[in-house]
Amino acid sequence: MNLYQEVILDHNKKPRNWGTLSNPTHQAEGLNPLCGDRIWLMLEVMDESIVDIAVDGESCAICKASASMMTLSVKGKPLKLAEELTSVFRKMVLGEHNESDESQLGRLKIFQGIKDLPSRVKCAVLPWHTLQAAVNSQGRISTEGSDDPISS
Ligand code: ZN
Repeated sequence: MNLYQEVILDHNKKPRNWGTLSNPTHQAEGLNPLCGDRIWLMLEVMDESIVDIAVDGESCAICKASASMMTLSVKGKPLKLAEELTSVFRKMVLGEHNESDESQLGRLKIFQGIKDLPSRVKCAVLPWHTLQAAVNSQGRISTEGSDDPISS
């Protein structure tokens, strides 16, 4: 078993920050109709920082692991940094990132092989796309149609 598989399995067995928040300031629902992923994301934002985050829903292993790792990467961080990470992550899964992006990604680099599995790219991006929607008070997003994070 390689590192990628181990990390995905671990986060599926014990997804971090899974569940709901009692006092969310922002929330959004994210849908990926191609795979059937459906997640709910809640944020507690204070002073332009993400003080708490929770994700819930039903999704495939890649989406769940991506969501779990995303929460670890953005919890306690300024919104601005979360926004930067979202764009770098998106570049990575499309194979468009460069070396300076890599240093920012840290353990999220585990998902870089996704670019060779086009049908799973949206699974990995959905949590990040939903995070952005929550921050922008968009309410509900889908990886299809006008919200498509990959074609835009
Ligand atoms: Zn999926």
